[in-house]
Amino acid sequence: MLRTVLIYLSKAEWMRRLVMRVPLARRVAMRFVAGETLEEAIEVVRKLNTGGLYATMDQLGEHTTNQAQAVQTTEDILKILAEIDRSGVRSGLSIKLTQVGLGMDNALCEANLARILKDAQKKNLFVRIDMEDWECLESTLEVYWKIRHEHKFDNVGMVIQSYLYRSEEDIAALLEADTKIRLVKGAYKEPAEVAYPKKADVDAAFDRITRQLLEHAAKPDSPALGDEGRWPPVTALGTHDEARINYGIKTAEELGVPREKLEIQMLHGIRRDLQQSLAAQGYPVRVYVPFGTEWYPYFMRRLAERPANLWFFISSLFRK
Ligand SMILES: Cc1cc2nc3c(=O)[nH]c(=O)nc-3n(C[C@H](O)[C@H](O)[C@H](O)COP(=O)(O)OP(=O)(O)OC[C@H]3O[C@@H](n4cnc5c(N)ncnc54)[C@H](O)[C@@H]3O)c2cc1C
Repeated sequence: MLRTVLIYLSKAEWMRRLVMRVPLARRVAMRFVAGETLEEAIEVVRKLNTGGLYATMDQLGEHTTNQAQAVQTTEDILKILAEIDRSGVRSGLSIKLTQVGLGMDNALCEANLARILKDAQKKNLFVRIDMEDWECLESTLEVYWKIRHEHKFDNVGMVIQSYLYRSEEDIAALLEADTKIRLVKGAYKEPAEVAYPKKADVDAAFDRITRQLLEHAAKPDSPALGDEGRWPPVTALGTHDEARINYGIKTAEELGVPREKLEIQMLHGIRRDLQQSLAAQGYPVRVYVPFGTEWYPYFMRRLAERPANLWFFISSLFRK
């Protein structure tokens, strides 16, 4: 119930304006966000790299509403690629297709994505397409397949959400094309017609898909971690749930999958202890590093995932 309300509020413009005006909200949000500028975020990535962790940078923002904004966001993303390249940090990039026009003008979105991937290709960088809510799924996959088949880019990967019933089928098709996958549980509120309502079922589906991914990773020609961590392997588990990670590790051992083919991804500011301990065991660990001024919906989804975060946020307001 609380989760539903928070996810609803994450899309409410009036709440966005209200929360973003509270300086303390910004301070609490910065637990999950690596700063408002590209320079601050690069500094965070540099520190992660020093600790043996890789990154995927994300300029916050979603659902652009006009063409000029989508083109401007594309320009901003090109600046991030330039800065990753110039600074030499070990990071890829994550983007949301609604940032660059999906849902408003899908042809423009495809053209913007092609521009981003062409530039990333020249710099030997990898770009991950985040998965947004159910309404965007079909069009996201459509743009992905066009970009792979018609534009022939392969420096791009997808996200699959285990809460969706259809994900086990989607993954089979994506793996046939050696798609690099980040498996997550799913951060949005979806109806029972399309997604498992119970957490236990989402977790069970996560484990089943993990096995599908690792069976692919067990093939000798399945791509491993590359270019000093700038390129991920086919299998990346995007979770902080130790039971899911342990299942992945156990299954990889059973199937003889080497550690550099099982990447664990976590969000900036969450379970740093676990990030470090997995990296020390020799697993590639990649941290999702969001930055920028448009932190509101991202922050609300993080609150929705863990009620304790909300109580921390509310009690901070009263402590002031
Ligand atoms: C790298 C990465 C990329 C992602 N990309 C996407 C995407 O493209 N699309 C999408 O729909 N979702 C994405 N997500 C979010 C994901 O779907 C989940 O909502 C989120 O990861 C929480 O689920 P969990 O797997 O950590 O498991 P949970 O069962 O929710 O949590 C397990 C444990 O992790 C810790 N934890 C989890 N969330 C939080 C939090 N917010 N604050 C503090 N502790 C927490 C707690 O200790 C909790 O007990 C991404 C997640 C990661 C890690």
